[in-house]
Amino acid sequence: TKDGSAREGQGLIVKALSGYYYVAEDGGSEQPIQCRARGIFKKRGESPLVGDRVDFSVSGTGEGTVEAIHSRSTELVRPPVANADLAVLVFSVTEPSLSLTLLDKFLVHIEHAGLEAVLCLSKQDLSEEGRKEAIEAAETVQRIYGRIGYRVIGTSSRRGSGLEELRETLDGRLALFAGQSGVGKSSLLNALLPGLELETSEISARLGRGRHTTRHVELVRVGTGHVADTPGFSQLDFQELGIEDLGYGYREFRALSAGCKFRGCTHTHEPGCAVLAALAAGEAAQSRHDSYVQFLGEMKEKKRRY
Ligand code: GDP
Ligand code: ZN
Repeated sequence: TKDGSAREGQGLIVKALSGYYYVAEDGGSEQPIQCRARGIFKKRGESPLVGDRVDFSVSGTGEGTVEAIHSRSTELVRPPVANADLAVLVFSVTEPSLSLTLLDKFLVHIEHAGLEAVLCLSKQDLSEEGRKEAIEAAETVQRIYGRIGYRVIGTSSRRGSGLEELRETLDGRLALFAGQSGVGKSSLLNALLPGLELETSEISARLGRGRHTTRHVELVRVGTGHVADTPGFSQLDFQELGIEDLGYGYREFRALSAGCKFRGCTHTHEPGCAVLAALAAGEAAQSRHDSYVQFLGEMKEKKRRY
């Protein structure tokens, strides 16, 4: 070609490391192509991300270059991934105990990031053993979150159950796993992706070390989809979220708010509030509103202090 490149193509960045981007070519089954980014990206303050769809070229001497980045549908900061469209939110039925507040917090972030959420209730083997707390947790999640349209999948990495259903939801998607530490994310990824061998907390304990937290992100193929091989976002805060944005993160409140009498209704005290009416009628879950009010308070407090 006229600019000296031997060939051009399109693909997906599956790994970024030490200034190199590894591009899996569309339809190609070979090893990802090692590329440098064009200098122009840096000048514009842009940089390619894992998950980016790109145009690349390979020169006559075999040098790969990322030539153009296609526009992104989503962009996450932690972990740094572009175009993710599904978050598998992992919660264990027990060990650690289910926290609905934390679950709602994760969901707010996932909704704001524009990803679809699937709830994965892990360690089902502990409910099958008849543990009361575990059985109740599974029922609660199904009742509250199944009703507002989230898909809930029960899994046990130990027994290998629920993995097929989970694998199916990953088809054609770019997914990442989220959830607090200890819920079994690494074990699930290892069970889904034989050969991945992520270090679980058990292994780190056996080796007498804390789990390394700064590993780079890499996309791994599952069926026709990809999964980020990092145990995803595990710490969250509301720093970047405005108070007026909170209600958006609650999908059922978002839907109901069209019926609120006042625009900008905070769903806390306003007359003619459709959310409060749904709560009173038992059509919305009290625990959801409780966490909403709690987060609203935390956000106001933060705003007052800074
Ligand atoms: P992560 O921190 O979310 O990545 O969680 P890990 O995968 O490291 O697992 C945390 C702990 O839970 C480890 O001791 C695992 O052995 C245990 N665990 C993981 N999956 C299961 C499961 O399906 N059943 C049971 N009973 N324990 C599990
Ligand atoms: Zn309202």
